[in-house]
Amino acid sequence: MRLTVIGTGYLGAVHAACMADIGHEVLGVDVDAHRVAMLGEGRTPFYEPGLQETLAQGVGSGRLRFTTSLREAAEFGDVHFICVGTPQKEGSHAADLRYVDAVVDELAPHLRRPCLIVGKSTVPAGTTSRLDVRLEALAPEGADAEVAWNPEFLREGHAVEDTLRPERIVAGVSSPRADAVLREVYAPMLQAGVHYISTDPTTAELVKVAANSFLATKISFINAMAEVCDAVGADVSTLSEALGHDPRIGRAFLSAGLGFGGGCLPKDIRAFMARAGELGVGDSVAFLREVDEINGRQRHRTVGIARNMVGGDFAGRRIAVLGATFKPDSDDVRDSPALAVAAAVHREGAAVRLYDPQGIENARSVLPQIEYVHDVAKACEGAELVLHLTEWAEFRRIDPAVLAAAASEPRILDARNALDAPLWRSAGWTVRALGRPAPP
Ligand code: NAD
Repeated sequence: MRLTVIGTGYLGAVHAACMADIGHEVLGVDVDAHRVAMLGEGRTPFYEPGLQETLAQGVGSGRLRFTTSLREAAEFGDVHFICVGTPQKEGSHAADLRYVDAVVDELAPHLRRPCLIVGKSTVPAGTTSRLDVRLEALAPEGADAEVAWNPEFLREGHAVEDTLRPERIVAGVSSPRADAVLREVYAPMLQAGVHYISTDPTTAELVKVAANSFLATKISFINAMAEVCDAVGADVSTLSEALGHDPRIGRAFLSAGLGFGGGCLPKDIRAFMARAGELGVGDSVAFLREVDEINGRQRHRTVGIARNMVGGDFAGRRIAVLGATFKPDSDDVRDSPALAVAAAVHREGAAVRLYDPQGIENARSVLPQIEYVHDVAKACEGAELVLHLTEWAEFRRIDPAVLAAAASEPRILDARNALDAPLWRSAGWTVRALGRPAPP
């Protein structure tokens, strides 16, 4: 099939490369000419495990090309996937749909061949119906086009694997033809037994925001338990392990720590609250406000514990920060809890030195005020406190005995509860974590 993928960011670039990988002819489209040029040469504009190989293979095979022209896309595609950003609107919780709208507005007048427009971006319930009206108004007389929604569940850091072997495919369609087209696009996955859920577009849109709301709630739940553990002297890691053995609860997304961030969960739960308010059911999802607040509180709590660890004042202190990205195996620093903590500590007068395996370039563009270095030892040289803020595997492999020699004070706050605390303590470190009592 001939597919276009419009918007080649974290979602679109992966989708385009994976669709070429399963045999489709793919044209990726972006307004960012630099990005299009890079992708066209088979080079990824961001770090995502496995993407470089998949992309280079697609480009090398001739099945994957990139352009800035939506007109070219309209002439080429049987199916157009919309993968542009839907950020939070400035000054509001609502989703900013201007990029999605712009794609339909620009594409529609050029649609001369029968096609299906398939949204993958995360959008408020009701967007597909709204876009259908727009398409109808702007497409040429007699154009054979309709809109469907096929939300994306990939996780950054596992995006290629998640796209090629998803847990489910949700197809929000308004006609049997749209359903048949999507089944054809994903035929290799369906043959491999992936669940395919066909529903109406509004339900499909809602599945995505409901899934993200549930995940965010689970994280904030365990972080709230960590706060209680800190107050009473209990251990949230053991609590979480014991809870997780109950299959009705499950272990996944139940690790207490610095909380969630990134380009999705925070803005998606806020947009959901805004949309529910418009629909007159704001009270039904009012708990998400608490979820968001608990999440934000973990950043303040981390700064507070760190401040106490250096005697109540950051002014003039040397602080090492391990991690900048919002999660490991990604270079994405959008709404990163790690960077928020690094920025707060810097604002309070500390000299901050940060190392991250992939996120330094992006972090520097958002937070240029702090110092960036290219390895753990350099970051910790002379540090009076080390903050472990993103759980990269590399940090779990650190030899605490070796690092103790570099730091001026062997003190670490493990804000991800991911390090082997007894091992660090036996190497002479004072270790604090969130929701875990320090040993007497
Ligand atoms: P992103 O900011 O990385 O990428 C968006 C891309 O769209 C950019 O490259 C931008 O230049 C391009 N763009 C903007 N307007 C355009 C236009 N008119 N025509 C062509 N290209 C245009 O964002 P992302 O992280 O890839 O997220 C995209 C959407 O996917 C969002 O709705 C997000 O919530 C959703 N989503 C993201 C993930 C994820 O893990 N990143 C997972 C699932 C869903």
